[in-house]
Amino acid sequence: MSLENKVAIITGAARGIGYAVAKRFVMDGAKVVIADVDDEAGQSAVDDLKKIGEVTYVHCNVAERLDVRNLVAETLNAYGDVDVLVNNAGIVVGADFLELEEDDFDRVLSINLKGTFLCSQAVARHMVEKVQNGGEPGTIINMSSINAVLAIPNQIPYCVSKGGMSQLTKTTALALAPHGIRVNAIGPGSIMTDMLASVNNDPAARNRILSRTPMERVGEPSEIAGVAAFLASPDASYVTGQTIYADGGRLPLNYTVAVPDAD
Ligand code: NAP
Repeated sequence: MSLENKVAIITGAARGIGYAVAKRFVMDGAKVVIADVDDEAGQSAVDDLKKIGEVTYVHCNVAERLDVRNLVAETLNAYGDVDVLVNNAGIVVGADFLELEEDDFDRVLSINLKGTFLCSQAVARHMVEKVQNGGEPGTIINMSSINAVLAIPNQIPYCVSKGGMSQLTKTTALALAPHGIRVNAIGPGSIMTDMLASVNNDPAARNRILSRTPMERVGEPSEIAGVAAFLASPDASYVTGQTIYADGGRLPLNYTVAVPDAD
């Protein structure tokens, strides 16, 4: 198993893409720490995944420095190491440009972007120290989005946060490369999670998404987990500073495609 005995922290892993990454990592042999703000969902995720491997839950709001410090301390306490960090926690707040509240702009940026910085810095301090003591370098994976590149007019802070994630991924990768620590990002297209729930029962929204998706379907969280498993594994040993877009062909598409009939 490619992650045998590796220790991985995954933020926002109580549900959705983060949960799928946690499941895949546990199946690949990792000891996984699920960090989230939804304690009930987090505990239930642990209860499910305990059946297949080693997993624990830590409450952590990634936008809070002290929570992040506690997350790393709890992980070291439980497993003695951190080899992989997946910065997955993220939120959306939709509002028209003229109506968007300052607090909402700040909240999205502080979770999606500053939270990624805080977690990366705290974990990287441990990883660098480990390398300096002769240990193996770890790796960091950021959950970006196609909205790092594509804009939506009523998703301003979200798109800005994911645009910033591109540069945060590159700058962190360059800063940590001399220590052998790799930093990459995944840019999912539309993936079937609670974040996309509104689309399920809205034919117009489904039409909008699928007309921009050459593979004619939304993605599954497990398909993003597969990319994370690759980036965390030794198979990606010379890959750093990259964003891999798993989007069913959306970014290369100019114009639109025909939408298949609903099942
Ligand atoms: P999700 O289903 O909403 O799950 C996100 C999890 O993160 C939830 O458990 C959420 O808790 C938690 N969370 C929220 N704020 C947090 C904080 N401050 N600290 C720690 N945890 C926090 O989202 P998802 O669809 O799986 O998305 C996961 C990541 O993929 C996000 O970064 C998102 O931007 C990215 N992404 C998703 C899609 C998609 O189509 N789904 C596409 C591109 C990129 P609460 O539920 O209590 O808020």
